[in-house]
Amino acid sequence: MSDGSEAAWRQLEKSVTGRLTRPGEPGFGTAAAPFNRRFTRTVPGGVLAAADVADVRRAVEWARTEGVPVVPRGGGHSYAGFCVNTGLVVDTRALNTVTADGGTGLVTAAGGALMADVYAAVEPHGMAFALGNGATVGIAGLALGGGSAATSRRLGLTADALVSTTLVTADGQLVTCDAERHPDLFWACRGGGGGNFGINVSFTFQAVPVPDVSTCLLLWDGGAAPAVFAVLQDVMRRAPDELSVRLGVSAADGRDAVVSAVGLHLGPASELRELLAPVLAVARPQRADIADRTFWQAKDYLLHETAGGAFAVRTGFATEPLPPGAVAEVLALLAHRPGSGNPDGCGLALFGWGGAINRVDPAATAFVHRDAQYLVSMDTSWDERDDPATVAANLHWLADLREALAPHLAGGSYLNFTDPDLPDWRTAYYGANYARLVEIKKRVDPDRLFTFDQAVGV
Ligand SMILES: Cc1cc2nc3c(=O)[nH]c(=O)nc-3n(C[C@H](O)[C@H](O)[C@H](O)COP(=O)(O)OP(=O)(O)OC[C@H]3O[C@@H](n4cnc5c(N)ncnc54)[C@H](O)[C@@H]3O)c2cc1C
Repeated sequence: MSDGSEAAWRQLEKSVTGRLTRPGEPGFGTAAAPFNRRFTRTVPGGVLAAADVADVRRAVEWARTEGVPVVPRGGGHSYAGFCVNTGLVVDTRALNTVTADGGTGLVTAAGGALMADVYAAVEPHGMAFALGNGATVGIAGLALGGGSAATSRRLGLTADALVSTTLVTADGQLVTCDAERHPDLFWACRGGGGGNFGINVSFTFQAVPVPDVSTCLLLWDGGAAPAVFAVLQDVMRRAPDELSVRLGVSAADGRDAVVSAVGLHLGPASELRELLAPVLAVARPQRADIADRTFWQAKDYLLHETAGGAFAVRTGFATEPLPPGAVAEVLALLAHRPGSGNPDGCGLALFGWGGAINRVDPAATAFVHRDAQYLVSMDTSWDERDDPATVAANLHWLADLREALAPHLAGGSYLNFTDPDLPDWRTAYYGANYARLVEIKKRVDPDRLFTFDQAVGV
């Protein structure tokens, strides 16, 4: 692989319609920055803001000819900073057109569309598929790595709604895949992960009508964690697919541990209150907001904002409720957290899994994790200005939390909460589906033009 000569970069600049930004040029810092500030030290040779599909094809052909590594960038939210490399970054965000057909329910999003673009297109038709809760998360990263949402127990993963996708492959060709055309590649694009098989320039999804819904936001003191976790996990075990809850406990500097339950119910608040009655009875929340909303109000209400900065996340899947001893260990670790300059702090969250997600065969798509009850997410955060000892202490704390919970996890990690520190990522992300992904990679990208630290086949 090469860095590309100055002449070669100038030639790329002349051949494309979009803007190519090189180090030192105005706007380069913003163009090159990943969302996770942990990875800002990776400096690309250039960032191309592709204006159209022809630009994407020229960029891929140029990278192949020059031997420069190339990586696509959508929303830039990869937790591991995999949307940035030291070669050419192809920023697809100008490819953001989304069309929705209310008659067929088909939604076609260009490869750089963000959640906000997709929601804006589907809302007038009163339909949706599983979409993430960050307005600037890219549809490409979300769908290619699986994509879970508060609606997933009813609607499945984002990848499960995909009916076809078009990629620029390593040979610069445009390839459309679906159940009939290039079915292997289509299989890989449903959970095989972004950045592995080409640059996806279009995705078509099947949406379905969505009803009015209700939401809950419940907050308790950390001390209530054992009772709340025990009862709410039991509620979730018996809940209909229409209900999904994210149950968490977290702490930050200047803030004691807080237990939170944020939920969406595809039904009225009266039903939601009834479903939640056991947990409301066992511990009185400091705040209890349960309300009827339109689906679109709920989407805004559930929007997940973070302070940004630098962060690390580890994940696992649980097939059984976390026992009281494990919850007590989490509380003890939160009490001895190292702290940092990031107000997001650290904690644990159980995302309701199961339902429609688990009704898909683990081999039917590349997304293998089809038997969990929860996605278990453990995280910590710090500020870029924190000293290295604080960063190391936070990463150490996170490793301790992961180890404390290991006996209660079924194995596996969620590819879209990408963990660059995961040693066994091939098995953890892909399980038994990894071998087939490697075969497909060999066929569509034999020279491994698209590569990064956790790329398929590395
Ligand atoms: C605030 C926030 C909220 C989130 N909410 C959710 C959620 O509700 N559900 C969920 O499942 N996940 C969620 N995530 C995680 C998210 O799904 C992943 O981080 C996802 O990879 C982000 O995609 P992206 O396009 O924004 O990121 P990027 O970093 O741009 O891309 C992610 C990966 O995909 C590759 N890629 C990007 N564009 C393309 C393309 N056009 N073709 C091929 N490969 C491409 C990149 O090279 C990179 O490897 C959230 C993350 C954040 C930060």
